[in-house]
Amino acid sequence: MISAQSSLLDRIRFVLVETTHPGNIGAVARAMKTQCLGRLELVRPRYFPNAEALARASGADDLLASAGVHKDLVSALAGCRLVVGSSARLRAVEWPLIEPAECAERLLDEAEQGEVALVLGRESSGLTNEELARCHYLVHIPVNPDFSSLNLASAAQVFAYEIHRALRARRGIRLRETPREVAPPEAMEGFHQHLAQSLVDLGFSDPDQSNKLLRRLRRLFNRSRPDLVELSILRGILSAAQGRKTADRFHKSQRRETESGTRQQVVGSDFKVGEGPVDD
Ligand code: SAH
Repeated sequence: MISAQSSLLDRIRFVLVETTHPGNIGAVARAMKTQCLGRLELVRPRYFPNAEALARASGADDLLASAGVHKDLVSALAGCRLVVGSSARLRAVEWPLIEPAECAERLLDEAEQGEVALVLGRESSGLTNEELARCHYLVHIPVNPDFSSLNLASAAQVFAYEIHRALRARRGIRLRETPREVAPPEAMEGFHQHLAQSLVDLGFSDPDQSNKLLRRLRRLFNRSRPDLVELSILRGILSAAQGRKTADRFHKSQRRETESGTRQQVVGSDFKVGEGPVDD
């Protein structure tokens, strides 16, 4: 787990330039906090502090409370050794251009040495050419060329996610399925013998000609790799099918005594998970 206190992430600031809608500031704070980023700097926001920003932050209030408010971009970038500007449009003037994944790698690399910034522009017009000229790189999220502008907070979420993803990858952190205890071979063997016997008892297969069928069934259960509880359920079902007549009689006598709604209980009480004959 990467904590919000991770010093590398603390050195990465998101700078929002002249944001018009205060809700977007809150939504950016929320996007950042979900990815363990905590430093937000605002350049001439139209409304800030603001109730709408707080509402859209959905609990990332601390980022809003600690956000710096600056009169110009240079002051918001103070002390940064690397600055990446984001743009929805590919500009006429060629500028070193990177994608979000590479942006994340570069920000993390440089954050090892000091402070870094990612700059996001105005909702209406993005960043000016003068502002972009202060950036070492331009980052663009590849999108539909005919509809390239993401909402400011959506773009921030993509960048924040990529930074967090890259840091987790560097630290070898990834989500893992909870390890499952699969049934051991001897339990599987007991199950397959029970299955083979049940198929004969039920008149489904001829014991002399069932080898191919049994191999197919082995392949099927090898694919699903049941655990002991699942195996026990399957064996309970087989036992119930083998003793069908007894069970039928049992249910009939129960039905005579009770009205609808009790059948579920009867079936439940008939079979208890874990009680099946797992080991032969
Ligand atoms: N209408 C503006 C888009 C502004 S969207 C324009 O044409 O430039 C607000 C901000 O979100 C942008 O300045 C940029 O920082 C970010 N953004 C939106 N879409 C993006 C994309 N496809 N790639 C990179 N940044 C993007």
